[in-house]
This record gives sequence, structure tokens and C-alpha cells, in this order.
Amino acid sequence: MEKYESFMKALKCRECGREYPLTATHVCEFDFGPLEVAYDYERIKKSMTRAAIEARPQTMWRYRELLPVAGEPTVGFKVGYTPLIKADRLARRLGIRELWIKNDTVNYPTLSFKDRVVSVALSRARELGFTTVACASTGNLANSVAANAAAAGLKAYVFIPSDLEQSKILNSLVYGANVIAIKGHYDEVNRLCAEIAGKFGWAFVNVNMRPYYAEGSKSMGYEICEQLGWRLPNHTVVPMASGSLLTKIYKSYQEFQKLGLTPEGPFKIHGAQATGCSPISVAQKAGLDFFKPVKPNTIAKSLSIGTPADGFYALRVMKDSGGAADDVTDDEIREGIRLLAEHEGIFAETAGGVTVGVAKKLIASGRISPNDSAVLCITGNGLKTLDAIVGQVGHPREIKPSLRDFESLLAAENLTPVAA
Ligand SMILES: *Cc1c(COP(=O)(O)O)cnc(C)c1O
Repeated sequence: MEKYESFMKALKCRECGREYPLTATHVCEFDFGPLEVAYDYERIKKSMTRAAIEARPQTMWRYRELLPVAGEPTVGFKVGYTPLIKADRLARRLGIRELWIKNDTVNYPTLSFKDRVVSVALSRARELGFTTVACASTGNLANSVAANAAAAGLKAYVFIPSDLEQSKILNSLVYGANVIAIKGHYDEVNRLCAEIAGKFGWAFVNVNMRPYYAEGSKSMGYEICEQLGWRLPNHTVVPMASGSLLTKIYKSYQEFQKLGLTPEGPFKIHGAQATGCSPISVAQKAGLDFFKPVKPNTIAKSLSIGTPADGFYALRVMKDSGGAADDVTDDEIREGIRLLAEHEGIFAETAGGVTVGVAKKLIASGRISPNDSAVLCITGNGLKTLDAIVGQVGHPREIKPSLRDFESLLAAENLTPVAA
């Protein structure tokens, strides 16, 4: 077994570059810029070779040097290394040469990409001595904090908007977490959590632990590169809530290029939102550097953040990489869910429908060229958002347990079976 050691240098302000110790803190005291983890890339370059990575267990911790924990992770050691699927049937349907699905619908243990960020945040929280963890969530984060905290013996408080899907609520309660439903939308939940985090000494994974939490998202990008055979896709389509995942996929590709793990070359990062909550995509399409906050109204509740914390940086990533953003209606989201299910056998939640729907638009409009390669980040499981498609995907035909009834059903539907 290789030994874990820390390659973190400091927390660093994204705006002014001031450095801070590696504690539970997330904003610069001088200009209120967000803090980000800085690493010792010279040292990382020596220990992180393709061969070293390939020899490690197939989890996201195989990229340990670029993840912000000081010692051995203690939470979520089975997370990540989800399948990257060559989606030839969907590629033909959407009209593109090479299409891949990064399938985080089967992430461990709570079936969404959030298991990545939570494993990092809780492992780091334990290193810093916390025994109570918390989060402000649109659903999947609450599920993952609840489950991982239970397994780690940590106390958990999860704060959610009260209008969340039943299954997302149950998927938090079952683990014994304290679930607090706030009568308000996510941005109000988030504001309250900032106050609570300041008053109680808890590790809020996406408030005071946000610099560590956010870094966990990079693992999705590293896996895409390695699973493609150590190369970058021309295009990556990423769903956006706060915009954090999109900025971290960009960072992961840049880091792999800088470390010589993938060849240098251009790549475009595209962002996907639901039209009912599209502050970032509206700004991108208008060519603006800043978004205008909105009140969310869409079935894609996991992406319903009207004031996205990383919206500004997500816009900059799309500009710098030459990517685009777009958004889709609730009907297009359901169509996206069906397209992915019917062509690739993958059942995604509403956020996945958003990503597929937006990819379809980007390909149709030429913003993604049909001769290029593209990866779609599918981030959550459809079993958690059944409410969104009830009555929208057909219904079973009911018959009596009789062969004659079955045959008349086939005849009525003009489905003559081929004789044996
Ligand atoms: C949280 C989440 C995202 C992206 O969130 P960001 O805040 O933009 O990092 C995407 N898909 C699903 C299903 C999520 O739960």
C-alpha cells in the first residue's frame, strides 16, 4: 500500500491570491472572494504518473494527490470510478460521431455525483476534528451527507427546501439524519445555513467546508480523461446548479494537461440548465459576464438554485474554453430522460434530462460539431425523481391471466407475433 500524504499548500483567494491556513473557512477577509485549495504541483508531478494511477484501486481516490485530504480518507472509500459508456445509439439519434455518457447515476452509495464531494468534505471535516456535519441541499447532497455521516458515525443536519421530491426527503430521513425543511426556496435555505454555520461549530459541507467539498467534483473530470485513454473530449456538457461542478471539470482538465497526463489541446465546456431556473445560461446566451438572480420554477429541483454561488466563474469558464450554455423546458427535460433511457438503458433524474436535452440543442445548432467527440455528465438517478415522469412514459396494459386475452391485446394493437 502506498502512503497517503498531503499535497495541499494553502487556501487561496480566487480574486486577490491571499493565502490562508487549511481550516474550515471559505471567504477572503479582504475582498470576500471565494477560497480555493492550492497544491504543490511540482511534487505531485513526481508521484502522479499514469502507471501509478492505473495500479491503484478503481475509486476516485486514485487521484488522491489532487484531492484535499491530508491523510488517508475515512469517508467514502468506494466512491467514484463510475462507468464511461460509449453511447453509439444515442449518438446516431443526436447526430454526432462520438458520444460518451459519464454515468454517475450509479455512484456509491447514494446514486449521484454528490457522493464525490461529500466523501472529500467529510473526510476533511474529520481531519479538522468535527463531529457534526451539515449542508444546504437541493436533494442529492442531503442524501449523500445523511448516508455517509451515518456510516462514519457523524451527527448530521441537512437543510432542504420544503417542496422537494418525496423520495429525496425519504432518502435522507432513512439514515437517521436531522432533516430540516425550510418553507422557502434553496437560496433562502442557503442564507439561513450561512448564519447557522457562523453560530454553531459545525462542518457545513457547502458553506465553511466549501473549498474542500468543491474539489471533490474534479474527480469526475479525471475519470473522464483516464477512461477515454488519457485524452480530453472535444466537448463536455455539464449540468449547472451553483455552477461548481462545471468550473471543477475545467480545472481537472487543466491540471491533467499541466501534469502531462493528457496531451495539450483545446476543449470546450458547455453548461446545461432548466429554462425554469436558468440564470447562468440566460447570461451566457446574452454574452454577459454576470447573471441576474431568478426564482426557480422547474421539475429539475436538483438544479434549482436561483442565485448560483459559482455562476460568475462558470460564465468565465465557458468564455475561456469557447463553450456555450443553453436551457430546456420541463417537456424537453422529460424527452431527454426518455432519449437516454430508450437508447442507452440508463435512467437519469431530471438533471440528466436537462443535460441530454441541452446536448441535443447544442448539436442541432452546430455549437457542438457532428464530427467531434462529446461527453455528457449524467449526475443523478431517475429512481429519485419518479414524480417528474409519472403518467408521462406510457402505462402498462392490463389483462386477465389468459392466453386468449393476451392474443386479443396483440391483435388490437396490430402486433402479430412472429410464429415460431
Ligand atoms: C448538485 C447537482 C449538480 C451540480 O451542482 P453544482 O452546484 O453546479 O456543482 C448536478 N446534478 C445533480 C443531479 C446534482 O444533484
